[in-house]
Amino acid sequence: MMFDYDDQNIFAKILRGEIPNKTVFENDHALAFEDIQPQAPVHVLVIPKGPYVSLDHFAAAASAEEQAGFFAAVAEVCKVTGVDEGFRAIANTRGHGVQDVPHFHMHIIGGTQLGRMLPK
Ligand code: 5GP
Repeated sequence: MMFDYDDQNIFAKILRGEIPNKTVFENDHALAFEDIQPQAPVHVLVIPKGPYVSLDHFAAAASAEEQAGFFAAVAEVCKVTGVDEGFRAIANTRGHGVQDVPHFHMHIIGGTQLGRMLPK
């Protein structure tokens, strides 16, 4: 599998500060910000700062420090958004997974009772 990163994608522009975002949390390796079209009361995107196109790319190629930084940001987002009663983490991937933005992002969605993960 070849992972070809397009540095003109919208999240690359957000990371470079070319497009504003509502930041929830940031550390050396990750940025978390509000989704522009929230699907629930809590809808935050967590992205690595490195050029990874997808979850499988990130899991295969990111360093231990990058992966730790990313998951530290996920933990912080779960804490500050108060999703103690539960949430859903989604990483849509490529065509079958209906991924729109080709920079790895994890959706953290919650703050209300969600429906089933997939239609039956
Ligand atoms: P995907 O379909 O790739 O998993 O999700 C992309 C997400 O990025 C969508 O939920 C969409 O609302 C969000 N999004 C797209 N463009 C922007 C933007 O410019 N700013 C923010 N904050 N979110 C965006």
